[in-house]
Amino acid sequence: MNDVSDDKTKYDVIIIGAGPAGYTAGIYSARARHDTLILSGIIPGGQLVNTTDVENYPGFDDGILGPDLMIIMRKQTERMGAKIIDVEVTKVDFHSKPFKVSTASTEYQANAVIIGTGANPRKLGLEGEQTFAGKGVSYCATCDGPFFRNLELVVAGGGDSAMEEATFLTKFASKIHLVHRRKELRASKVMQERAFDNPKIEFHFESVIEEIGGNEKVQKVVLKNTQSNEKSTLEVGGVFVAIGHEPNTKLFAGQVELDDQGYIVLKNRTETSVPGVFAAGDVHDHRYRQAVTAAGYGCMAAIDVDKYFSEN
Ligand code: NAP
Repeated sequence: MNDVSDDKTKYDVIIIGAGPAGYTAGIYSARARHDTLILSGIIPGGQLVNTTDVENYPGFDDGILGPDLMIIMRKQTERMGAKIIDVEVTKVDFHSKPFKVSTASTEYQANAVIIGTGANPRKLGLEGEQTFAGKGVSYCATCDGPFFRNLELVVAGGGDSAMEEATFLTKFASKIHLVHRRKELRASKVMQERAFDNPKIEFHFESVIEEIGGNEKVQKVVLKNTQSNEKSTLEVGGVFVAIGHEPNTKLFAGQVELDDQGYIVLKNRTETSVPGVFAAGDVHDHRYRQAVTAAGYGCMAAIDVDKYFSEN
């Protein structure tokens, strides 16, 4: 944890969030010689601190553990000169400049803000989901699919993400059990058809996951049919939960424009509806959701801030 007793409160740029987007924005902003503060939240590092092996972040030929990657990014960001404080932001005021970003104890001010607070995958809320997180329970097929070769897997959800993840996972898995709580899928017709046409995917409609069990790793899933209440057990090696994401934007309601799912709307490249306030990563991007794309957006936002300063 960083020392929070520093009484400096005015910065050129404040970055809220310390995942790949926030750290990369910090690296670029500090290198551009802007006085930069990152308010990281209480658990810095974003979603990658909850993952194990990361094989798809370029630059690590043997892969790297998610938490280790975030420690390296943090050190690099600090070496470039950004100040990082591990504290939760409780309030923002973007109605006038300088913008105000407050924690429980301090009001900070800056002429530009980059929001990189990310999104969290929605959870089923089962005990086994937590017990086996990173041990067979995953929220990202692109990230973890290759670790599940030749296994039977469960994918939970009925939207486009679930169809996409199930279809993608058939490259690795021997069979996919797609479990959806209703009779109709929410996914678009084309995504549904693709999944229906795939012989490796078996659909379990009107079914919910009651239990995820195993020893060291996931070994079984107990399903309950919502109509008959009948239970059945699937012997599977993994569970992919694909029931949507929730962007971390509660703080920003009424401050910047959000879409109907709560994601930040970008107006001009990475700029939000408020000139001078920018967003980077999963907080606005519900399509790619990768560490490398979040880092890319962080870079873009910091470059956009630099341009904003030169023009204003
Ligand atoms: P979504 O559209 O909100 O679908 C979530 C699915 O999970 C729904 O089927 C929902 O069931 C189910 N669900 C939600 N909470 C649940 C719970 N507690 N237990 C069991 N099931 C639960 O989310 P998404 O699939 O992640 O898609 C989000 C957005 O991204 C959508 O606009 C989608 O079109 C877009 N997207 C597009 C693509 C693409 O075009 N390639 C790919 C992925 C996502 P109900 O249907 O019963 O509500």
